[in-house]
Amino acid sequence: MVPVLALFVLLAQPPADPNATAAPDLVELTALDPGIRLDIRYATAHNFLGRPVYAEARAFLQRPAAEALVRAHRWLKTKGYGIVVFDGYRPWSVTKLFWDATPEDKKQFVADPAKGSRHNRGCAVDLSLYDLRTGRTVQMPSEYDEMTERAHPSYRGGSRRARRLRDLLRRAMEREGFAVYEHEWWHFDYKDWPRYPILDIPFSSIPKN
Ligand SMILES: [Zn+2]
Repeated sequence: MVPVLALFVLLAQPPADPNATAAPDLVELTALDPGIRLDIRYATAHNFLGRPVYAEARAFLQRPAAEALVRAHRWLKTKGYGIVVFDGYRPWSVTKLFWDATPEDKKQFVADPAKGSRHNRGCAVDLSLYDLRTGRTVQMPSEYDEMTERAHPSYRGGSRRARRLRDLLRRAMEREGFAVYEHEWWHFDYKDWPRYPILDIPFSSIPKN
């Protein structure tokens, strides 16, 4: 008899969610608002794996989440900031790769491929802010994908300014139906994520618009 885990690895298929009945409608964020910046770390070696896992530096969300993100970006503009996106929709096979590459004691920072990630549903986004005056990405209490307690949205250390900006980003996102992840100030889930299936569509199959 083949153990369940081995069978899962052999098949390497995204898990089906019978409750996720919404039709996928992934849209390119920069097409909705070119003021949204991209810093797609997984298309570079500048990520926790130290090598590129995306062939293209693009970012997508399901349309209602993308439109909510644009509204958050426009609200932040009135405060002097813009949104910079590190990652949005992530194909399921990439989530599996992250899981396999992450040591046991850091697994709370990555999604279990047996359950799938909200990124796989096109309803999670990793992001920060850039300063509209200087054009530079702001300093937050931790780096993106830093697997320490500094990454927690409730972390009390670091500079006051960094904490204020982290909290401003959170406020902007919560106004539009996103919830922050308890271990990562940069990760937000859109409220309708349970409606969307776990996808493994490569970026190259999503039309440029
Ligand atoms: Zn994330």
